[in-house]
Amino acid sequence: MSILNKDRQILALSGGVGGSKLALGLTHCLEPHELAIVVNTADDFEHLGLHISPDLDTLMYTLSGLSDTSRGWGLADESWGALDALARLGQPTWFQLGDRDLATHLARSCQLRAGTSLSTVTAELCLSLGITHPVLPMSDDSVRSFIQTGGGELSFQEYFVRQHCAPEIQGVRLHGIEVARPQKVFIEHLKSPDLAAIIIGPSNPFVSIDPIIKMPGVAEMMRASTAPVVAVSPIIDGDAVKGPAAKMMAEMGMTVATTSIAKYYGDLLDGFVIDEKDADHATALRESGLAILVVPTVMQTLEDRQMLASQVLDFSLSLSKTHDHSTLSIT
Ligand code: GDP
Repeated sequence: MSILNKDRQILALSGGVGGSKLALGLTHCLEPHELAIVVNTADDFEHLGLHISPDLDTLMYTLSGLSDTSRGWGLADESWGALDALARLGQPTWFQLGDRDLATHLARSCQLRAGTSLSTVTAELCLSLGITHPVLPMSDDSVRSFIQTGGGELSFQEYFVRQHCAPEIQGVRLHGIEVARPQKVFIEHLKSPDLAAIIIGPSNPFVSIDPIIKMPGVAEMMRASTAPVVAVSPIIDGDAVKGPAAKMMAEMGMTVATTSIAKYYGDLLDGFVIDEKDADHATALRESGLAILVVPTVMQTLEDRQMLASQVLDFSLSLSKTHDHSTLSIT
């Protein structure tokens, strides 16, 4: 039996790796009509004439069970013949494209070029991969993350993949965000009285979640929704599990701690999920007006993903949006 009352839904916001882990857990707890997953597309880019959507791909490969879990990105049982051939032709190989992965980019690019929206292309790719829970790109409009450094701006993939996150970051510019329209079904969920909770996955706040919530109207709709907003911390015991989130925080002058994530999301949040290793921060966070759940949040196995998803769901559904934490002050 479902943990949700009839006709109620959960909205999950996700980047790539961290968000997908929790999203997979949620798909094991909820029926397809009970969950929609909204995915960051601000690290999409054009490469070799192809439209690549790294976070959508990570989510689709994760939900379909096709992802390479040891490498942490791309497809399992991948081969690299095309990349070798590209190298022979003197083409750039810094962004590794596996042969099977290329098929996704070819299919997506070809349909986008024919005028199909990213939402429709994504829905069709998901259908082909046997994914039954709705996966929504955050927008059909283009938003692109640029990393601001002392040496100028870098496109996100240039920073993330080509330069291995080495340059010191000063900030993130989200090109196109002012005019991006949130995806239609995403807006419908945000406005729906049946929305039971909005769950922000343990994704990078600056480059995975900000693009979603900084689109015009999104944060306002989240605040206005009767559904509580709950985030899972991507920072555990003063570090990121993976990726540049901790390095970015330090370089942008933030304390690298789970409390800084809560502070960053500010009054958007009703609840915050922290790891048991950060239990000593729970009191200060609660005093700031947030509801806090302390549980193990490192997701290594499928069971970990399911367990965390089910605990986050129970916690989210137990919250009401009555408390005032508009003056959130956490040090
Ligand atoms: P990306 O777009 O592929 O970088 O992925 P996300 O933005 O969705 O996720 C990156 C974040 O996920 C990093 O800050 C990690 O610390 C976090 N993360 C990865 N695995 C886990 C995990 O098992 N538990 C928690 N709490 N965070 C995780």
